Amino acid sequence: KAKKAGKGRIVFYTEDILIENQINVHLVNRLQYAIENNLLMQHYQPQIELNSEKIIGLEALVRWHDKEYGFVSPASFISLAEETGQIYAIEKWVFRTALEQKKQFEEQGLEDISISINLSSKTLTSDTNFFEIESLIASYNLNFKDITIEITETAILSNMDFVISRLHNLKKLGVRIALDDFGTGYSSLTYLKNLPIDIIKLDRSFIKSLEENSDSKDAKIIKSVISLANALGYEVVAEGIESKAQLNFLVKNNCPKGQGYLFSKPVAVEEIMNLLEQPVTNN
Ligand code: C2E
Ligand code: MG
Ligand code: MG
Ligand code: MG
Repeated sequence: KAKKAGKGRIVFYTEDILIENQINVHLVNRLQYAIENNLLMQHYQPQIELNSEKIIGLEALVRWHDKEYGFVSPASFISLAEETGQIYAIEKWVFRTALEQKKQFEEQGLEDISISINLSSKTLTSDTNFFEIESLIASYNLNFKDITIEITETAILSNMDFVISRLHNLKKLGVRIALDDFGTGYSSLTYLKNLPIDIIKLDRSFIKSLEENSDSKDAKIIKSVISLANALGYEVVAEGIESKAQLNFLVKNNCPKGQGYLFSKPVAVEEIMNLLEQPVTNN
């Protein structure tokens, strides 16, 4: 990407060059192949009501297993796809698959199970692709209050007013909005004040070191975020619960919901059906 910089000189944007050099073109091609041949998989991680340990929802998390590269983690291929623009096709697939699943659950009498879907900043702030997702959602006749769209703060940083208007578009459909990975990056109280969100997802970095009676800084931050969220009328979902001790801490401190390996890793929908028939923890 070159641009004329007056007097006939051409300058290159170092940032673009860096990005282009970092991109593994072959990996991009493999990802494109997976997109076009419907090789992505959708997994779901249960979201739990902590005091009853009942499954109340599922977060859709995309999976990609390539025959050359093996399992590629979403953390890598989602950010790659954001660079290349492949995220738009991936997200349309993820939304359609998750919405179809929600429809099936409703037909099977599992209408109480909510579905959470991640929406990248890239799609949230694009035009055509955002409106396509919006009309895709609207084309379903579903209980929209049981659909949550998870966003991160990345988009908000650049243009908060614009993001707020986009979120209002989504809220008009009746879906709920969650602020994902809260507490990482530049998390600002201004977001909590201005964004039309319903849910704060406490990032798992705060949960990691918790013990049942922790009095650490993390513990204090969690307690404060829970009471702040309560005061502002937002629900809290804790991410990355891996131990009974962490669960006990969260229950004691009135954190209503959470997800994590203690209950279940993200799994295919067939396994979710098994989990729905039995208690999630047996300890
Ligand atoms: P996220 O939305 O914050 O998703 C939670 C991540 O934490 C998932 O990683 C999940 O597997 C992991 N996790 C859940 N419980 C535990 C736990 O107890 N311990 C540990 N160590 N990890 C846990 P995953 O699936 O690798 O996804 C990583 C990120 O990639 C997601 O973070 C999300 O930002 C992005 N992502 C995944 N699927 C999608 C998608 O369909 N669309 C978009 N836009 N982003 C996606
Ligand atoms: Mg998420
Ligand atoms: Mg998260
Ligand atoms: Mg996270």
